[in-house]
Amino acid sequence: RGKSEARGSFRFFEPEMDARLQARRLLERDLRDALARESFEVYYQPIYSLDADRICGFEALLRWNHPVRGFISPAEFIPIAEELGLIVPLGEWVLRRACEEAARWPDGLKVAVNVSAVQFTSASLINIVREALRRTGLPGRRLELEITESVLVANPGATTAILHSLKALGVRVAMDDFGTGYSSLSYLRSFPFDKIKIDQSFVRDLCIKDGTDFIVRAVIGLGASLGMTTTAEGVETEAQLAQLRAEGCDEVQGFLFSRPVPVSEVAAVIHRWNGASRAIA
Ligand code: C2E
Ligand code: MG
Ligand code: MG
Ligand code: MG
Repeated sequence: RGKSEARGSFRFFEPEMDARLQARRLLERDLRDALARESFEVYYQPIYSLDADRICGFEALLRWNHPVRGFISPAEFIPIAEELGLIVPLGEWVLRRACEEAARWPDGLKVAVNVSAVQFTSASLINIVREALRRTGLPGRRLELEITESVLVANPGATTAILHSLKALGVRVAMDDFGTGYSSLSYLRSFPFDKIKIDQSFVRDLCIKDGTDFIVRAVIGLGASLGMTTTAEGVETEAQLAQLRAEGCDEVQGFLFSRPVPVSEVAAVIHRWNGASRAIA
């Protein structure tokens, strides 16, 4: 009797599983197809320097406009690309596109590109970065790579060597989403990061949740004492901005300044914040 019940419940779940598996297979097929056709786009969100009182760079954020589903979040398709081993070619495409486009911006502006753990520790990373810089003519000092704590946990040994090779190219490296992963504070000291990006979950709770101001203050202090720039992500309100300014945060980024925009709107964003004299030539 138990057997037939089990079979019954199995049969009940089967179609649903099938549907999910099929949706997933379709997405995989579409992702391969999108990569082959290069039907992705890179959007850019300004990063604002509080010290200089101007935009100092942009973060490149991948966008996939799916023919049927419309825009799909990178948070959804990046993990699939990682599993399928497509993240290396996809990441290479983003990097080259971002360097190409940033090479046309005023010289002081940097571009920050997100790099997933798989891509960061792949043997080809350094060559891919060097090749992107060479082909596009973007100076290494204008490129920044953003990695998350998962990279350190997965492969701390390789990470140090890679960070040093990137430094030799003049490329900076930022620790993204700081405070959300499992790495300890001592990790920060052992790896030569140039920047800490304070995760938006902390910024969201600023001025709202007890204790958050203290965490943000501590991270900014930590960054300062390690000689790292601190950037706050997800700044949406004037109150958050005022608080971050008061704590001595170096840079801010968020909808308060601008949403990520297509490359065609980058010039207007620069013009709006940095003035006419600093617009794209
Ligand atoms: P991230 O690198 O931490 O990027 C910041 C995310 O916060 C972006 O989401 C951005 O649109 C969003 N954001 C910016 N300002 C605000 C704000 O004021 N409020 C709120 N609520 N959100 C804000 P997006 O573009 O959906 O990207 C999500 C994540 O996907 C990124 O998080 C990054 O981890 C990953 N990702 C995006 N592009 C790439 C890529 O080219 N390569 C890789 N490996 N990962 C990427
Ligand atoms: Mg990022
Ligand atoms: Mg982040
Ligand atoms: Mg400062």
